[in-house]
Amino acid sequence: MLRKNRLFTPGPTPLLPAAQFAEASFTAHHRTADFRNLFTRVLADMKEFIGTQNDVLVLACSGTGVMEAAVSNLTSPGDKILVLTAGKFGERWTALVEAYGCQVDTLSKPYGETFSLDEVRSRLTPDVRAVYVQATETSTGARHDVKGIAKLVRATGNDTLLVVDAITGLGTTHLDVDGWGVDIIIGGSQKALMIPPGLAYCAVSERAWQRMETTKSPRYYFDLRKERKSAAKGESAYTPATSLFAALGAALDYIRQLGAGNLGAGREDLVNNAELAAEMTRAGGLALGLKLFAPSSPAAAVTALEAPAGVDSGAIVKEFRESFNAVVANGQGEMKGKLFRMAHIGYYDYLDTIGALAALEHVLAHVTGKSVAFGSAVRAAQEVFARQTEAAGASR
Ligand SMILES: *Cc1c(COP(=O)(O)O)cnc(C)c1O
Repeated sequence: MLRKNRLFTPGPTPLLPAAQFAEASFTAHHRTADFRNLFTRVLADMKEFIGTQNDVLVLACSGTGVMEAAVSNLTSPGDKILVLTAGKFGERWTALVEAYGCQVDTLSKPYGETFSLDEVRSRLTPDVRAVYVQATETSTGARHDVKGIAKLVRATGNDTLLVVDAITGLGTTHLDVDGWGVDIIIGGSQKALMIPPGLAYCAVSERAWQRMETTKSPRYYFDLRKERKSAAKGESAYTPATSLFAALGAALDYIRQLGAGNLGAGREDLVNNAELAAEMTRAGGLALGLKLFAPSSPAAAVTALEAPAGVDSGAIVKEFRESFNAVVANGQGEMKGKLFRMAHIGYYDYLDTIGALAALEHVLAHVTGKSVAFGSAVRAAQEVFARQTEAAGASR
């Protein structure tokens, strides 16, 4: 049977065709009026996509580049920093903050779990200069309570900064960046924006800009103040990833169309789409007797499912690829072999979701050697879909 290559990975994610065309046909030089127009329009649209009035910067790097910028620009060596971690990406914050010589206090929870607000509150002493956390921990499929954490940080009354890696949170989670008082929020091109890897972006609050006036950690390429100055003139400090900007412009146009001309509404649609696909996938996995790895606070970005007892999740990943040319993600680090992850970030629709669950039924039958009630995962997902679309229709 014919097989199409499909990504069900939490980045890179499937590409939007219109963005691919825009990228392939783009030739403008970056120090021209044409490019400055595109650059300025994209930055303005990105504010709407993120849902913020803060300055937005888009840099040529992977997501980790802007994570590093959020550390190098906001800290001085010796600063006390609180890192909230419950997975591989949380551990990346710890490593980054240590690399810049800060004094790190880590609140860590086991993989698959999230923090209680009481635990966070007890760590928020007045000397904490900044808090670093993920919106969604892609390695475990857990969602963290950014709203609750932000409330606690702002309630301290100190000028403690809150930095959120929302690289898989943006476009999959409703986030009120300005209302909650998030100081730096970070995203990446290869996730909900449906374009290739290579761009990462952030929105920076006034409080964060002020902090940068006094911080001492070294920085050069990722000097955000320099980028802000250039951006005000429609340029980036160094050569921007020009064709990726063209792709980003097309992706933002697509999201605006989703929202019938309103980019903010399109973002909400994209989030609701991910929420629905995630709920269908959770129902499908449970119907097959699989366990959710992060059952108490599952993210809409990605669903992590545990492999059945005695099965290495690598066998599931392999079977998806070999039988269906579909790529799902294995666990990372210590979670490798134990779980597999199916993503819902960006350009996924109903048919992708149903198809992936139908494939999962065959994959499980193959790797366990046991019979699977075909249609059981699909049926559970269909029921979720019917319920949700009826509810949405009723409220329309
Ligand atoms: C993908 C991802 C990143 C960024 O990884 P890069 O490989 O540097 O783009 C960071 N945090 C989270 C939560 C992610 O999902």
